[in-house]
Amino acid sequence: MPEGLPDPGKIWDDFINNPIVQLAGQLIVIYVVLLWLGTAYWAFRDMQARTENPILPYFAAALIIFFTPLLFVFAVILYLIVRPRETMAEVYERSLAEESLLAEVEKNELCPVCRDRVESDWLVCPNCRTRLHRVCPSCNRLADPTWPLCAYCGRDFERTPRAATAPAASTATQAPTGSRRDVTAEQGALGGATNP
Ligand SMILES: [Zn+2]
Ligand SMILES: [Zn+2]
Repeated sequence: MPEGLPDPGKIWDDFINNPIVQLAGQLIVIYVVLLWLGTAYWAFRDMQARTENPILPYFAAALIIFFTPLLFVFAVILYLIVRPRETMAEVYERSLAEESLLAEVEKNELCPVCRDRVESDWLVCPNCRTRLHRVCPSCNRLADPTWPLCAYCGRDFERTPRAATAPAASTATQAPTGSRRDVTAEQGALGGATNP
């Protein structure tokens, strides 16, 4: 070995014993340990969101802890493979969507009597002659036969047509003449009272 060249083993020892390198090494170790504990906490919370079981989150955290700070990445891979696929919020959302879809199908697509498929704008079921809708006489839109009045224009189906139109017409168009007639009738009554 030539005289001028430094010993590689001595360089390594100097590097290891350098206080800055030692400090950096300690910081890295602390960081990895924090990462390990943080991952265990993440697994705990993640499992909490995916199951109602109160014990499984502790198992998930224990799995991460068990694999030590050196190997916990393998525990994370294992956990990602075996954890429940959906969170409980996703399961709830999916069940809501399925429920509303089912309700939609049952409400709009099937005859309430014979369960035959019908269109949403049919007046009667062609299979069993059940009345599905009625045409509102005021606005000509399709009204549900169970509605007591039209949801679109407020036409009251329970009353007879004449009784339904007469008050509406008097309030809407004949109100001024009606009130004027009342005034003249009152004046006539007053005149009758003052003139014996
Ligand atoms: Zn039917
Ligand atoms: Zn109407």
